[in-house]
Amino acid sequence: MANMSRRNFILSLGTLAGTVALAGCGNSGSKPADSGSDAKKSDYTLVADGKLTVAAELGFAPFEYMDEKTGEPVGFDVDLIKAVAQKMGLEASYLPNQKFDTLVPLVKQGGKADVAIAAITITDERLESVDFTNAYLDSNQAIVVKKDSADTADTLNDASKQVVCQSGTTGNEWITENLPKATCVPVDDVTAALTGVQTGLYAAMVVDLPVASYMLTQSFSDLQVIKEIPTGEQYGIAVSKDQPA
Ligand code: GLN
Repeated sequence: MANMSRRNFILSLGTLAGTVALAGCGNSGSKPADSGSDAKKSDYTLVADGKLTVAAELGFAPFEYMDEKTGEPVGFDVDLIKAVAQKMGLEASYLPNQKFDTLVPLVKQGGKADVAIAAITITDERLESVDFTNAYLDSNQAIVVKKDSADTADTLNDASKQVVCQSGTTGNEWITENLPKATCVPVDDVTAALTGVQTGLYAAMVVDLPVASYMLTQSFSDLQVIKEIPTGEQYGIAVSKDQPA
């Protein structure tokens, strides 16, 4: 698993040069933006001059999380959006932490954030509200339980089992569709959710596999992934349909 996520990172770094340009996602139905990075400054308006204003939920390591020492956002997505901003001659400027399920509506509404990047899976439903850049990373879901738990995906599908997830995520959707009898508990904070699994408040969590792998290794050594779910998701950066450039 660790190897798997490392390989994904290397793959995505390899394709980074080709994908940093803000380009329309193929199946959005709207006219795709140029695939090059040649958007001119006059082609778009920004929330704040000279800045790429970024919205994110900042509790999703290793993609975006707060550096405890500096109080600044760090992680893979943070590096990526800083590189995109630099390429556009701008400085990335993060808004304070936002709830994950508000990110797409925030970009859609306009005026507060130019982009949202937060390991956001490109989905048909979200494409109705916003555009996405080309995908920059492949991902899957994982079911996380305590190491001493006897639960399986089958036994979790029972009303007596509380299965936690981050609200409004693809993990949330997976539980609703695939564990319809379980008691799905959407919460805002992934660390609180994993802590709840640790203390026995919840039987399991469904969350993006790279995040489960990373956070279990870093901080939750008494939890384990019992199932990797090959959802075949891809992350993209959400941009307003009104600002394709
Ligand atoms: N990739 C998942 C989604 O888009 C989870 C993202 C997140 O929690 N930051 O729903």
